[in-house]
Amino acid sequence: MLNGEKKISRPLRWAMVGGGRLSQVGYKHRTGALRDNTAFQLVAGAFDIDYERGKEFGVNIGVDEERCYPDYKTMFLEEHKREDGIEAVTIATPNGTHYEICKAALEADLHVICEKPLFFTTEEVLEIKELAEQKGKILGVTYGYSGNQMMMQMRAMIEKGDIGDIRIVELQYTHGFSSTEEADKFSDAQKWRVDPKISGPSFVLGDLSTHTYYMSQLIMPDMKIKKLLCDRQSFISSRAPLEDNAFVMMHYENGAVGRFWTSAVNAGCMDGQRIRIVGSKASLEWWDSKPGELSYEIQGQPAQKLIRAMPYLDDSCNADERLAALHVEGLSEAWANIYLKFAIAIDAKNRGDHETLENLIYPDINAGLEGVRWIENCVRSADQGAIWVDFEDVPTAQEVN
Ligand code: NAD
Repeated sequence: MLNGEKKISRPLRWAMVGGGRLSQVGYKHRTGALRDNTAFQLVAGAFDIDYERGKEFGVNIGVDEERCYPDYKTMFLEEHKREDGIEAVTIATPNGTHYEICKAALEADLHVICEKPLFFTTEEVLEIKELAEQKGKILGVTYGYSGNQMMMQMRAMIEKGDIGDIRIVELQYTHGFSSTEEADKFSDAQKWRVDPKISGPSFVLGDLSTHTYYMSQLIMPDMKIKKLLCDRQSFISSRAPLEDNAFVMMHYENGAVGRFWTSAVNAGCMDGQRIRIVGSKASLEWWDSKPGELSYEIQGQPAQKLIRAMPYLDDSCNADERLAALHVEGLSEAWANIYLKFAIAIDAKNRGDHETLENLIYPDINAGLEGVRWIENCVRSADQGAIWVDFEDVPTAQEVN
């Protein structure tokens, strides 16, 4: 159980790029990173594309005015000169800026936490991965709900064979907030999401499905996709070629099959993330509408509802527990869990503690790489008319160069 006691010797000096007043995701980062004030301390930021608004915002959340910067380049330069300069930075800006800001941050000797989808291409990720290795830095990716402790419960039960051999994987991440064209006109955050120059090669495949895809890998680390078929649509035609809905069928190497539905036009849908794993003996199901519950359905027996914080759960699940039973936990605690793991990873990297790094389960740069690879393969299939394609291996850095 986590109670805020320190896991590293002192909190890391941390900054944000983006995440300002009008940002959708900024507060999630701060509730995650600052939940345990023993992990991170927010000391600087280039919070907004608009300097004055970003500065006012930074001051309002307690950052010194002189450390609220007009842009990330100035921030990295000025912070580098300080003895108490930042050690880690979060990048919470639109997708098309991630690559250049990540690169600049690593070149400035910072650990990086970056939003998903990490970059536009696997080549970019491999280049940055090499740079991070050279610099001895961590790059974490904020697949927020992956920090939910029931993911670790699913992983443990699958590993122990509680559901038997996996046969069917059903994944879903949908919402209905972009059901009409109006959304694209009035929301800045929606406008860039349907602009390929800023969003990248996809809309919902990158924006939504990368989360649940990573979670599926987290709970079933041995399940590798062999081929997939992706059919993507733009129900709001002005969004083409970017999709607002997609179905993906998967064939796994062990013979299992899967399907993924991702959508921003699932009208009326408010809680849209679902994972159902069907095995030869039983099934497991998790919905983000009840994130502290897991449905465990053994064929021929009454279904069981496993509830978080209970002693019958696996130790790895209860290790990420915060509030104990009787109360509701959800997205904020999941973010706090991944940020705590980022802090532990950064500290271990700084100390050269390979054992901690090898045993820590968190969304690292490889998770970012897999997300980009997933998008690339889905788009490759969809753009050839929804055909089956081999799930291509990411090329090695040597092949890329
Ligand atoms: P947004 O449009 O709501 O906010 C973007 C913010 O970045 C704004 O504050 C803007 O002023 C700022 N910004 C843009 N360019 C900047 C720059 N060069 N320097 C400094 N600030 C800059 O976008 P959003 O919905 O918050 O999405 C941002 C990123 O977060 C995207 O990559 C998105 O995919 C991701 N996201 C992730 C989650 C999650 O659950 N992990 C949720 C939402 C968004």
